[in-house]
Amino acid sequence: MQRLAIGLSVLRPHTWSPAAVVRSLTVAGMGVAVGVLGLGALVLLDARADAWRQAETASSNLARALEQDIARNIHTYDLSLQGVTLALRQPGLDQTSPEVRHLAMFDRAATAEYLGSILVLDPEGSIAASSTSTVPMGLNFADRDYFRIHQEQPDAGLYISRPYHSRLRRGDPSIAISRRRTGEDGGFGGVVIGALRLAYFQHLFEKLDLGSQGSVTLLRTDGTVVVRHPFKDADMGRDISPADTFRHFVASPSGQFVGTSALDQVERLYTFRRIGDLPLILSVGVSTAGVRAAWWSKVRILGTILLLLCSATVALCLLFKREMLRRIEAERALTEAAERLTIVATTDGLTGLANRRQFDVSLDREWRRAARNETPLSLLLLDADHFKAYNDSYGHQQGDEVLRRVAACIRSALLRPVDVGARYGGEEFAILLPDTDVVGAWTLAERIRLAVAALEIPHAASLSQVVTVSVGLTTLYPQHGQHAGLLVEEADAALYEAKRSGRNCACIARRFSTTRQEPGLLAAGE
Ligand code: GH3
Ligand code: MG
Ligand code: MG
Repeated sequence: MQRLAIGLSVLRPHTWSPAAVVRSLTVAGMGVAVGVLGLGALVLLDARADAWRQAETASSNLARALEQDIARNIHTYDLSLQGVTLALRQPGLDQTSPEVRHLAMFDRAATAEYLGSILVLDPEGSIAASSTSTVPMGLNFADRDYFRIHQEQPDAGLYISRPYHSRLRRGDPSIAISRRRTGEDGGFGGVVIGALRLAYFQHLFEKLDLGSQGSVTLLRTDGTVVVRHPFKDADMGRDISPADTFRHFVASPSGQFVGTSALDQVERLYTFRRIGDLPLILSVGVSTAGVRAAWWSKVRILGTILLLLCSATVALCLLFKREMLRRIEAERALTEAAERLTIVATTDGLTGLANRRQFDVSLDREWRRAARNETPLSLLLLDADHFKAYNDSYGHQQGDEVLRRVAACIRSALLRPVDVGARYGGEEFAILLPDTDVVGAWTLAERIRLAVAALEIPHAASLSQVVTVSVGLTTLYPQHGQHAGLLVEEADAALYEAKRSGRNCACIARRFSTTRQEPGLLAAGE
């Protein structure tokens, strides 16, 4: 049984006070708001990563497309150069007419808007043949890097020159694509070159949308800038080999990194690729500020909305908490006031005992209960003796004090919680004793009477010289249909009898006895 009780107490839910519930709800609400804010931050961080991913993918695709275009064009041009060197090796070409020789050498030469003339230079660097007739013969290019490279390095293969201003096209910025020509003795026989106008790259790069401060750079693997978009003549031929960015460019055939440009000091996301197997590198740069700007605008809009919503939620939570706590406090004050009012309404202000109204309610309730349970119900009516005289002698205030002390005697005499001690009116008290027979009632009457006398409150006008009380008591077995007033009537009659018998005594209702009960004697049944 005991184990069961312990088990039930464990199962009983923990009861929270309303204020604790409100506080917990407020904290939970604010927690949700903070959670939503955190979620928003995660979404924005993801959007940031997304913006970078998009920039990386777009740059990669762009770099690949440009690389393929440039590689294809240079390869085509190189085929033309190879065609010329092959033709030059044909035996007996010198003996043919100039027209046939020209046809044999330049028949397969590619022509396009950006391609210059294909020139054949002799071992001294002078023009020996040209794909176009407009080129003045005899011009010397021995000072050009492409000439010297092939002169010095027989295995130079396809050489891409540094950018230069063309002597044939009024200073047009160009690069030369060249191959070595082997002489009849197997030695250096000159150079075959084709010029490629940088305008080709400029027009190619201009079409791209790289956002503000985007750049595309074509450079040689030795760090020489060939061409750059946005185009600046001064950038042409600049050496960026000492720059940090260049170290990345040559570290691997392709890749991506964030770095600061050596040319304009702008931080960019660089995507670079080698152009086929050529000694050229293409780099596409997207400004990091541009990438961040798009993301920042998202952060500003979404962040502001989220912050506003979360602040509003937190504010509402705090308002809710304040309002609810105010209501709980008001409710508590109201309950306390109601409780105080109930006490005031049911208690006698002077003595602290139940008042007359409460006594009537108790009498009615106990009367019906006794009738239902067939148990006895006793009533004591107690009246201070010669109290008018006491008031006259000692004053009303002193009289009130006596009534308070008599009430204290009654209170301490009542041992069972169901007993009701009440001030019946003036200097009269009523004591209702449920489930108490006449013997018990008599015992209590005597206990109170003797206790009051034992207080020995001086009362000169009384026979006994001290304050005393007279008690009338009765016991009934209430029957259904009988009126509770019967109990009061009988007790009142007994009190009258006690007064008549000389006061300072207890009298039982006439039904039990008609004789005066001497102090300490039990009159029941006599
Ligand atoms: P007895 O009951 O012995 O016949 O004489 P008594 O003088 O007590 O007679 P009665 O019961 O008629 O008088 C009641 C007096 O009790 C009247 C009044 O002076 C006094 N009394 C009634 N209520 C109060 C009270 O609240 N305070 C005080 N001090 N006196 C009260
Ligand atoms: Mg009286
Ligand atoms: Mg009296």
